[in-house]
Amino acid sequence: MAATALYLHGAGRERHTPGGWPLPRSIALLAGSLLLILALLPRLAHAGLQGHMWQHLLLGMYAPIMIALAMPGTLLLRRLPVRQARVLVGLLAARPVGILIHPFTAAVLDIGGMYLWSHRRLFADPCEYRERQNRGRGNRMNLEPCFLCSLPVMELEGQFDKMDSYYLLPEDDAYVQGAYGWCHALCLAQSSWGAFWFTRRRKHFTENMGYEQKASTGEHCVLRRPRDGTLLILRHDGLMFDIAPHALSKAKSTEGGVLLPVEHEMNLELDTAATVQKIRDDLMKHKRYSLWALIDEVGIRERMLFPRALEGGELRLDKRLRREWFGNWLSAKVVYERFIPDEIVSLSQTKGGASSSTMPGGGTPPPAGSSPALSSSTCKRSP
Ligand SMILES: [Zn+2]
Repeated sequence: MAATALYLHGAGRERHTPGGWPLPRSIALLAGSLLLILALLPRLAHAGLQGHMWQHLLLGMYAPIMIALAMPGTLLLRRLPVRQARVLVGLLAARPVGILIHPFTAAVLDIGGMYLWSHRRLFADPCEYRERQNRGRGNRMNLEPCFLCSLPVMELEGQFDKMDSYYLLPEDDAYVQGAYGWCHALCLAQSSWGAFWFTRRRKHFTENMGYEQKASTGEHCVLRRPRDGTLLILRHDGLMFDIAPHALSKAKSTEGGVLLPVEHEMNLELDTAATVQKIRDDLMKHKRYSLWALIDEVGIRERMLFPRALEGGELRLDKRLRREWFGNWLSAKVVYERFIPDEIVSLSQTKGGASSSTMPGGGTPPPAGSSPALSSSTCKRSP
């Protein structure tokens, strides 16, 4: 505001000199200042992602263009006494300033600045995480609640699912009754919604995502992504198994199926500072923490499907992720296994059924009426 006032004062004085000062330049400066004010309005700052992007555009692109068109540097040089103007010109001609205002440096700073700005780890915003936590409808921690049992859902592969509302039509019962969102795989397999979601997801992946149906039985549907050969095997109880090409080469055989190694990053916020501290201390001291112990802290032991896949699972200390330990947040590597039942393994290895709508001879469909989810949920549980 002060700079704008100074500019307008200078421009007003300059208008009466022989060269004058073009009115459009003053108008450009006023427009640039208004855009800056608009960008910094609290309303825009709290308007979510869209507001944030408007701030980017206004602060980073539109306002600077208007200010540059106003040529404030030229006005300053004209208004300064000759001696001071010479000092200023000397400064601007200095080598360090020359490097700084060179188009190449400007491009590096601009692109580099955007990179830093967008870098989650450098600018992890606790408010953003808090907002995410509050979005959960009365759930504990920052974890989304299961739409079937309301307990928190941990994003462990093979243990959870997310049924997006955009798969639904407004008249669907699932939409009307709120049967969508995050859920435990076990809850889905045991619920009456599994069969509904089986058909909806098959439709979504074949019609919208470009998957081709490789085989279909009464119990399963095998879909393949032509681009990379990834298989999605949908089971009638709603469970979905995705199997990347060659993933089974790392499989370890176990009773009733195989176990695939899984490793990814985990970020979650717990309720009590004492628990978080205990887990952090353990991670610092032993470099690891039992995954089952964490599942117990979250209170969802009984919601885990194929529990044997989590035996031996653990959080591992990761120095890079450790930097994100603020508040009650925990970030660590998590290592465990994913269980693939035998029937899914044999379906995934079926060859030559690319366009068939029935099981090719090589497959062994399970007997009609069998309930693989229930048999799997009786697996031995061990901490
Ligand atoms: Zn549940």
